[in-house]
Amino acid sequence: MVRYVYDFTEGGRHMADLLGGKGANLAEMTRLGLPVPPGFIVTTEACRAFLGTGAEPEGMSREISRHLSALEAAAGRLLGQPDDPLLLSVRSGARFSMPGMMETVLDIGLNDDSVLGLAKTSGSERFAWDSYRRLVQMFGSTVMGVDSSLFEQAIALLKEVRGVPDDVHLDAADLAQLVETYKGLIEYETGEHFPQSPAEQLRRAVLAVFQSWNGERARLYRRREHIPDDLGTAVTVQRMVFGNLGSDSGSGVAFTRDPATGRPGLYGDYLVDAQGEDVVAGIRNTVPLTDLERLDPASYLELRAHMETLEHHYRDLCDIEFTIERGRLWMLQTRVGKRTAEAAFAIAAELADEGLISVDEALARVSGDGLARLMFPRFDTSAVGEPLAHGIAASPGAAVGAVVFDSAEAVRRAAAGEKVVLVRQETTPDDLPGMVAAEAVLTSRGGKTSHAAVVARGMGKVCVCGAEQITVDPQGRRFTVGGTTVREGEVLSVDGSTGTVYLGAAPLVDSAVMRFLETGAHGERSAPLVDAVARALRRADDVRRLEVRANADTPEDAARARRFGAQGVGLCRTEHMFLGERRKLVEEMILARDDIERARALDALLPLQRQDFIGILEAMDGLPVTIRLLDPPLHEFLPDRTELAVRVATADARGELPEPHDVELLDAVNRMHEENPMLGLRGVRLGLVVPGLVAMQVRAVAEAVVDRVRAGGDPQAEIMVPLVDTVEELRLARDEVDAVLAEVGKATGVPVRCAIGTMIELPRAALTAGRIAEEAEFFSFGTNDLTQTVWGFSRDDVEAAFFSAYLDKGIFATSPFETIDRDGVGRLVEIAVAEGRATRPDLKIGVCGEHGGDPESVHFFHAAGLDYVSCSPFRVPVARLEAGRAAMEVAGDSDSR
Ligand code: PEP
Ligand code: MG
Repeated sequence: MVRYVYDFTEGGRHMADLLGGKGANLAEMTRLGLPVPPGFIVTTEACRAFLGTGAEPEGMSREISRHLSALEAAAGRLLGQPDDPLLLSVRSGARFSMPGMMETVLDIGLNDDSVLGLAKTSGSERFAWDSYRRLVQMFGSTVMGVDSSLFEQAIALLKEVRGVPDDVHLDAADLAQLVETYKGLIEYETGEHFPQSPAEQLRRAVLAVFQSWNGERARLYRRREHIPDDLGTAVTVQRMVFGNLGSDSGSGVAFTRDPATGRPGLYGDYLVDAQGEDVVAGIRNTVPLTDLERLDPASYLELRAHMETLEHHYRDLCDIEFTIERGRLWMLQTRVGKRTAEAAFAIAAELADEGLISVDEALARVSGDGLARLMFPRFDTSAVGEPLAHGIAASPGAAVGAVVFDSAEAVRRAAAGEKVVLVRQETTPDDLPGMVAAEAVLTSRGGKTSHAAVVARGMGKVCVCGAEQITVDPQGRRFTVGGTTVREGEVLSVDGSTGTVYLGAAPLVDSAVMRFLETGAHGERSAPLVDAVARALRRADDVRRLEVRANADTPEDAARARRFGAQGVGLCRTEHMFLGERRKLVEEMILARDDIERARALDALLPLQRQDFIGILEAMDGLPVTIRLLDPPLHEFLPDRTELAVRVATADARGELPEPHDVELLDAVNRMHEENPMLGLRGVRLGLVVPGLVAMQVRAVAEAVVDRVRAGGDPQAEIMVPLVDTVEELRLARDEVDAVLAEVGKATGVPVRCAIGTMIELPRAALTAGRIAEEAEFFSFGTNDLTQTVWGFSRDDVEAAFFSAYLDKGIFATSPFETIDRDGVGRLVEIAVAEGRATRPDLKIGVCGEHGGDPESVHFFHAAGLDYVSCSPFRVPVARLEAGRAAMEVAGDSDSR
């Protein structure tokens, strides 16, 4: 018999899959003896069953009734009891936090009778009617599907009639009238009465929360955060406690450390005489949590003690929601808190220092994506003018963009390639698409825990919130600050690390982390952060099995990659050396009418290539440098076909003689034209049909090796053959390579020994890897081409053409060109590794497609048994870190999503 409901006393944090994060942690706090209002959790399994069949799962409502009875017995009163009602909150809570993306219904149990009982027991008629109107409003929109703006309009109208500025000035009679208006609205819109039965309210609220798992906002958020669609949400049903019962009540949000920087200490916001929703919504301005010490010293001390208990118990930064009801503290939520990348590194290092976690756990709690974020530049403060405004530094980083005032405009401009800054009074979940599209978010209201701040931090977006000097006028598409008016389209610079906003585009400087990675300098200002990063990288280097190389085509890139910790060059694309002024020589080689002309062109290219290789081998002295023979189709080095044709045709039309060179070129371009060049004469095929090309490139490599040896260096060149389909191609290419190496060795008296290997970037190569390994000393997976050919996606076209539609439809969660497709491409990789090594046990295997620097893919390559990953120089530190994390056995228990 499946069980669908658990009491708080029955669960624990390890049950988050079933009870959702919120439910599991409430259960954990209950177990720890913290003051948690009692309640129970309806499981994610019940949600999945409901969403799967559209019907309430068998037995669920009986279980709910049983748990409700127990709750009522403990409280000594019944749900919605007319003289003294027990009231409940019904909240969503999925495995992974999805702040504000699903529904909540509060004050379940109020109706026309019990509102009077609540007025008596609370001693406040206004409070009772305000609670009731909140219920009718929330229930009406969430459960009964009435457009929420209709309720907003009704309350706005009432305020206008009463001539009051905000809700707080509406009295009990006003609110009672509003309840009637709301009920009328519901009847008009749905043809149904607002249900007076508390049990029905509860039942329908639970199902509505289930349903909200598939709401548009929730789906968009999951896609972005890569949260699977099939998890479902749990529902937490809990006795209501009230923070809005006067000045001895209130609600707050707290962190055991600063979630922006990681510094220890109590951080958070508190709002007197308010419910928790009011704090997070950022509608009223909060006070810092430390003010609570003055306002209610006893509760403050108690809260501090609980926070310490939680941080020690969870061994991590905890984020807490609490309510004080008439001087009594209640813990409403805790979880391992979201944090910025900077805070993640700082906290991990500090907790390790404090002995709360091991160095391996510290490594598990940071991420390559976070490190990449810290490598971003910041503003050069010495070169910026007077700030335009200050707010709360809610999510760090520096961003420049044009001001927009709503989500749709942000999306529109971003789609057109413009960088934008979304400016709002406060954000709501409806602003999510705009926040995704924007470089930065700026709000005039709300604290570090407002919606804008929480969501931006989660996304790694720059955010400054609560910039109170700003008056936002979305209708007028402008904001004012002091005497300055800033209109839509004007450029702003937003510094989320300091909370400062500048007018115009401020100049950017490198990050301290980047400086450290480039020079080894720790710097003064950011020394603790840099230390934390250095320690994480050191640990990763100690434990990782994967080597990390770089894709580099110039000595400068190779040198930078080496500073970043690269252990060699995994891919040197030689075609990049055929551009610029050398293009002319390539053209001559292509147009050559006979062997002599071709040899002349190749001879001219040879010293240039040799010089390139000498530079790279010198920068990577002692480390392997994998040089790939020419890959792209030759016509890429010739002028554009249409342009040439037009030139020749224009001359014809004018009755002039076209340039003979143009005619010759056009002829060549036409001869070589391919409809699908990516599947045409490229890679090893080119080397096999253009005489002398391979020999020239190999000679350049071999002579560069000789040059470096003579200079006292230790060159470790490797030669890699691209786009091989069959072992015969590789054998032919290899014979030529071997011959040239031997010849150069003989001629110079310096033996040249280069490992010869191949790329595995076509499905056939992967499937016949056992044969190919007979001729290859190493494999390097070209996962760009392999993804292209396995999926049949043109890598140059499809991302722009239809990937956004595919992502929207959930066909994949990330582009397979970004994160390795484990099931398809990954399977071929596994086959090739197994069969390649069966032929040649010491076969060295790496990857040099874009996936080599992608954190998730690095974990796959580790598991697949590769020896190294190769990625762009800037991703080298990221890959080192992730290779270390992949190798670690101790999985961190940080729910860092
Ligand atoms: C690849 O295909 O993954 C690869 C590294 O080669 P290129 O991107 O140059 O085709
Ligand atoms: Mg390729």
